[in-house]
Amino acid sequence: DKYTIAIDGYSACGKSTLARALARRLGYSYIDTGAMYRAVTLYFQRHGIDPGDDEAIRTAVPHIHIDFRPEDNHVLLNGEDVEHQIRGLAVSQMVSPVATRSEVRRAMVQQQRKMGENGGVILDGRDIGTVVFPDADLKLFVTADQETRTDRRLSELLSAGREVSREEVAENLRERDYIDSHRADSPLRQADDAILLDNTHLGLEELIEHGVELVNR
Ligand code: C5P
Repeated sequence: DKYTIAIDGYSACGKSTLARALARRLGYSYIDTGAMYRAVTLYFQRHGIDPGDDEAIRTAVPHIHIDFRPEDNHVLLNGEDVEHQIRGLAVSQMVSPVATRSEVRRAMVQQQRKMGENGGVILDGRDIGTVVFPDADLKLFVTADQETRTDRRLSELLSAGREVSREEVAENLRERDYIDSHRADSPLRQADDAILLDNTHLGLEELIEHGVELVNR
């Protein structure tokens, strides 16, 4: 059978790594929904759209097309590979305010449902198990403590050659966690039927093994 698997959790808790590894093991496709909100944010930045400007957002949203390139899962914004641009601090600092906008969420959720409608798919994000696929076959909710998440994101950014300080990363994670879990429209929360995985002490290998076990159960 081809299942739909939802993985939600806080920023930089290891959920994308888990999702990617599980998708590879199972031969499923992987949809990084955070990358979609990041691509929308990049579009807003390029076009000078203020995340508080309803009218501008309404006008812009129909012009934003997001896909994933099948070979490497890079995110495409209107056909352009923007995988590198969306991971920088500039996008990270604006993405959560953009993701509070209902107009934006409506468009993204609709597209995510379409991408996942045939099953055999793993989606990771903040609202997959609660809103996008509330009937998902398996829901995981991943956490890790603040230190672990900061270390993880910092080393990712540094190894990608970005100039960023630990404090900037920590501040960005704190800010996004707060906005993501307090927004009016589909705030980040653990679905009632989601299984909690804590990546603080569980290594990535163990996390993946655990995930595979849960899928096979
Ligand atoms: O997963 P990632 O950290 O790349 O997500 C970036 C941001 O996109 C999150 O902090 C959140 O504001 C937003 N997001 C969301 N809903 C999702 C996925 C991401 O609001 N399903």
